[in-house]
Amino acid sequence: MNFIFLGPPGAGKGTLAKEVAKAYSIPHISTGDIFRENIKNGTELGKKAKSIIDAGGLVSDEITIGLVKDRLSKDDVKSGYILDGFPRTIPQAEALATFATIDAAVNFDIEDEAVVERLGGRVCCKECGQMFHVKFNPPKEPGKCDKCGGELYTRDDDKAESIKHRLEVYRQSTAPLIDFYKAKGNLVDVDAKPAPETVLAEFKKKFPN
Ligand code: AMP
Repeated sequence: MNFIFLGPPGAGKGTLAKEVAKAYSIPHISTGDIFRENIKNGTELGKKAKSIIDAGGLVSDEITIGLVKDRLSKDDVKSGYILDGFPRTIPQAEALATFATIDAAVNFDIEDEAVVERLGGRVCCKECGQMFHVKFNPPKEPGKCDKCGGELYTRDDDKAESIKHRLEVYRQSTAPLIDFYKAKGNLVDVDAKPAPETVLAEFKKKFPN
């Protein structure tokens, strides 16, 4: 199946997408991860995107659509995929409809207060990208990744000012996609408030493998 994961930042889309990708053997395509990889490698795209991402804004539709179109032309998407963090605007969704068929837009439902608490304590490994949370999922050793031993850091866009801005951007530009996919008849709501295992169980019930 071809999935879109919709929802505010911090709803747990990335965490669930990793689990679903494993369980359903389909690639997890995160535009945020692609941008961060480009920033890390100092590419032209990374240079263009860095200041926008750090401030919690959106990279231009033109750049982002081109990137996803290119990614969806690869062979590994033939048996399905998860788009995590794309589309984020109506023009992106309209463009996507011209080169992909989406089976389900999964909407991760969660209130702002929970998002602020989640993002505010989130730390990320500099080496492998693994996420932890200082309160809900702390690393065994503070500041060090359990998986690869890499250094943990707070993403610039997880700092208080950026979180606020990201939520505003979400409400203004991305939330209208809920009605967009509802009108197409392929919106599926998932309660994103419980722990990841519970959200995954709900997902599996809705989409038996
Ligand atoms: P994420 O990891 O999905 O929270 O994405 C991190 C950041 O990458 C976002 O705050 C945006 O600045 C940028 N980004 C990711 N996906 C998109 C998109 N579809 N359109 C525009 N900007 C994006």
